[in-house]
Amino acid sequence: MMNTFTETAITPEELRAAQYFHGHKCPAMPQGLRAGHLAMDLLGVERAQGGGELIAIVETGLHHFSGCFADGVMFATGCTTGKGNLVQKPLGKFGLTLYVPATGRAVRLVPQYGRMSQCLTMDFMNSPAA
Ligand SMILES: [Zn+2]
Repeated sequence: MMNTFTETAITPEELRAAQYFHGHKCPAMPQGLRAGHLAMDLLGVERAQGGGELIAIVETGLHHFSGCFADGVMFATGCTTGKGNLVQKPLGKFGLTLYVPATGRAVRLVPQYGRMSQCLTMDFMNSPAA
């Protein structure tokens, strides 16, 4: 059987808009953006419009960047604290579980260890803010 999975690419426009939403340039927000898209791709679902289609459970750490990861997830998935379909769990690590109540399916993604420090040295971090 052919694998039909394709990962949604983050466009420069989306990255710029997400940075505007988030307020500053950092390595964790884009990772949350990618994690959100990848989770939706794996589940075969669209971005949440209301509050009931998706629920995002974001594992965060105690340091600054983990909240940034959650903002990227919010922007990508449409799950927000305002709509009550994004929950932050301070478990001391980065992770995203995206749950689809209608089907009972979920996926949990965890960024690779060391990815954050790798992202800090990328060209993206040294280019002027959008
Ligand atoms: Zn940030």
